[in-house]
Amino acid sequence: MDAQQIYAAQSQLGRRLRVTGETTPLLLNTCIHPPYQGGRRSFDPSLYTNHPKGMIGVDVPKGGFFGVPGVRGIIGSMKIFAIGRNYVEHARELGNEVPEEPVIFMKPSTALLGPGQAFVYPDFSNDIHYELELVLRVSRLVRQGTGGVAGDVCDAVSVGIDFTARDLQGMLKKKGLPWEVAKAFDGSASIGEFLEWDPTQSLSFSLLVNGEQRQSATSEQMIHGFDAIITHISKFFTIEPGDLIYTGTPSGVGPVSRGDLLEGFLGSQKLLTCGIV
Ligand code: MG
Repeated sequence: MDAQQIYAAQSQLGRRLRVTGETTPLLLNTCIHPPYQGGRRSFDPSLYTNHPKGMIGVDVPKGGFFGVPGVRGIIGSMKIFAIGRNYVEHARELGNEVPEEPVIFMKPSTALLGPGQAFVYPDFSNDIHYELELVLRVSRLVRQGTGGVAGDVCDAVSVGIDFTARDLQGMLKKKGLPWEVAKAFDGSASIGEFLEWDPTQSLSFSLLVNGEQRQSATSEQMIHGFDAIITHISKFFTIEPGDLIYTGTPSGVGPVSRGDLLEGFLGSQKLLTCGIV
């Protein structure tokens, strides 16, 4: 089976694609394009095999990432969950109350910007803000509030930027309307390279804008921890392998301008680079 045939079959199969991997069979609901790893796009047709049940199968190298939209239009239905107001200082800096339960919103897969992809400043806003967040990648299906232990549900972690049209969001909040257009627009979810996640370790992360540190925090400062976030999301939504969870931003958010360079770090490791154009 050559690359063309695989693409054609994948386009037709859509959500029925399945992935077989080192850990467990995964539903390939994220994207339908070559595995994206290590900062390089590579396509190896030998990774694609005929699934025993008649599905197209893909052997997923451990740590492989399938959520970067390289080919728009044939992306499946992966979900991006995001948590708002999950750090006390950030809730305060925007004049929000600290919520008792996690505040959930979502972005579509078309919001994703892969590692190194530039953010194109949209013409519908004059006040786009960066929000650096820890991002978990889901590896196991969870539903009906049975989330429990995040370490059993997610296998990888990265940092991502929840780009926000603050002017639109402010206007919508004032009117009591949903935030979607301020949060879920194309390119609003920049994501870095993923690392295997050790849930026993505290995670520190930071953002440099043009070489200057603007945000810095640790996972211990979250109001709602990873377990609580996953349990809460799964009360309302089935969480599926390939879904991503942006876990909230710490204080220090601010505007971006064309020409800025954003760099996201997990510990001392740079996982994300995103230029603003
Ligand atoms: Mg955010």
